[in-house]
Amino acid sequence: MKKFIHTNHGKIETPAFFPDATYGTIKALTWDDLEKTGTNQIVTTTLHLEQKRGSEYIDQMGGVHGFFGLNKPILSDSGGYQVFSLIYRRPGNKNAITDAGCSFIDPENGKYHFLSPEISQIIQFNLGTDIVTVLDVPVQHDAPTSQLKQAIKRNTQWAKRSKDKFLELHHLTEQDFNNPKIKRPLIGAVIQGGNNKDLRKQSAEELLSIGFDLYNFGGPPIHKEKDWRSNAPRGFHHEMLEYVSNLIPDDKIKYAMGVGSPDDMIFSTKVGWDIFDTVLPTRNGRHGYLYVSKGHGNKDFNNYSVLNIKGKRYKFSNKPVDPNCKCECCSTVTRAYLRHLIKINDAVGWRLASIHNLTYFQKTIDSIKLQYENDS
Ligand SMILES: [Zn+2]
Repeated sequence: MKKFIHTNHGKIETPAFFPDATYGTIKALTWDDLEKTGTNQIVTTTLHLEQKRGSEYIDQMGGVHGFFGLNKPILSDSGGYQVFSLIYRRPGNKNAITDAGCSFIDPENGKYHFLSPEISQIIQFNLGTDIVTVLDVPVQHDAPTSQLKQAIKRNTQWAKRSKDKFLELHHLTEQDFNNPKIKRPLIGAVIQGGNNKDLRKQSAEELLSIGFDLYNFGGPPIHKEKDWRSNAPRGFHHEMLEYVSNLIPDDKIKYAMGVGSPDDMIFSTKVGWDIFDTVLPTRNGRHGYLYVSKGHGNKDFNNYSVLNIKGKRYKFSNKPVDPNCKCECCSTVTRAYLRHLIKINDAVGWRLASIHNLTYFQKTIDSIKLQYENDS
């Protein structure tokens, strides 16, 4: 169902898709380019900004909106996912998670860092984002139940501490928090529990009793190797998305973090999720993996096809990437030329491919909106 999210930098109509501006940029694109794809909001990565520039510096520069020169809603993650992935992959004395928070050595420069629920809120406060996220405790795919239970307990405690810090930073009481007339950023908590339904339910109930603006789907368990899906039965991700969505009242904003492909977004909105973020359209675009209308690529999915532009079959193709698309990429270059640009890792190729993919994702969102209107 259609919802409106009111932020300090504009209104978001759901469903909405947030491209990932890691380090505060959507690689190879200007904000003007982004505007033309129909995208009205972005997500940025807290930890990357803190480590590269420092959130106090960004605060001095007018927060993310002033520094980026972008007057649109900006959501920030908590930094937790990057830290946990790192700690789970390289556990040790200095890479550890305790009740206090997570300590870790940055593999890039060997520096020691500490991230706690409170520090994550302070960084996001300095960044001045419109929607902030609490530091959560993701689980590992192979963790025993006792460890999963401990993680859920900690996840709830951290969410409570995050909200307390959020209220303190914004000089708000709980009553102010619930007063829609008071302007403030929105805050989302993350429902965890991995592939365990009982724990997901417990996590959702505990977070709902603390009270947040958004409830986020804490992704699948972190897998030590690469693909968690290899350990889950087929379709399980969808089943879990539906299960968790049903645990959250429909008047709340439901955020499916890290979802996903156009098919995943279409499925997720059907079971109640409102907002999404993913690196897929831009990262895949830079590798020449393009999302196109069904039947116009070299591999078909339920609602779309993908076209791998590096393939030999496109070497002599004078057609646009997607004949049904009017974006700058499809109206100015041929598949053959884009193939050439991507194969030589040229920034113009990255830009055009990202513009096309973001436009395609936005069109998918528009088609879901149309469906909402037809249903109501
Ligand atoms: Zn296009």
